Amino acid sequence: MRKNIVAGNWKMNTTVPEGVKLAQEVNEAVAAQAALKCDVIVGVPFTHLTAVKAVLTHVALAAENCADHKSGAYTGEVSAPMVASTGAQYVILGHSERRGYYAETIAMLKDKVDLALAEGLKVIFCCGESLDERKQNIHFGVIKDEIEGSLFHLSAEQMANVVIAYEPIWAIGTGETATAEQAQEIHAFIRGLLAEKYGEQVADDTTILYGGSCKPSNAAELFAKPDIDGGLIGGASLKAADFMGIVTAF
Ligand code: PEP
Repeated sequence: MRKNIVAGNWKMNTTVPEGVKLAQEVNEAVAAQAALKCDVIVGVPFTHLTAVKAVLTHVALAAENCADHKSGAYTGEVSAPMVASTGAQYVILGHSERRGYYAETIAMLKDKVDLALAEGLKVIFCCGESLDERKQNIHFGVIKDEIEGSLFHLSAEQMANVVIAYEPIWAIGTGETATAEQAQEIHAFIRGLLAEKYGEQVADDTTILYGGSCKPSNAAELFAKPDIDGGLIGGASLKAADFMGIVTAF
């Protein structure tokens, strides 16, 4: 059975002390929940990984990116082995901000996915269309290309270590959430792609998260849909109370 997951993506927010405090608050709140119906992850800046890891007992840790090379002369980059050595269990790859602002391509993300999995990291792989692509009605093709191009060289065994996050770009940080029906439609489409490529079992077992202005007030409706297995949360992950309002929405 697939896992429900709520993962925070702090992006470029908080200093290290602020981040440690936030992680402590989230960890304590999660520890205090008797029967949570989801796993909880915090995705934090590279600089925070080691210090945040030290305070987490009930919450898993993700980096927000890793390099597309294993080591070498790539000033300023942080490799998958470096991320894994902090004790992080996950890495977020392919976020639309990375694709858009840092020109990350489908081919580059394929390499990042391979490097991350080779280090034993689980991948939270983001995909999603722009508003323009949705208006042109090419969003299904965009998502298919992103998933096929960066993930479908993997074996079924490797896919067990991949979580997919559907994040429509028009809903990220805009306050505009995809309706639960719009999100469910895409999640079912993604699960269909997985079933075609890997069979029903892998499709059933893969966690597919929704991301894009998810908040305590809309999380329960989104998570009630059969193919929405949780959320990747940006803005609302920066306050422990808001994040917990989403974690407890299942
Ligand atoms: C994100 O960036 O992954 C995200 C979902 O952001 P927000 O929740 O702020 O829309």
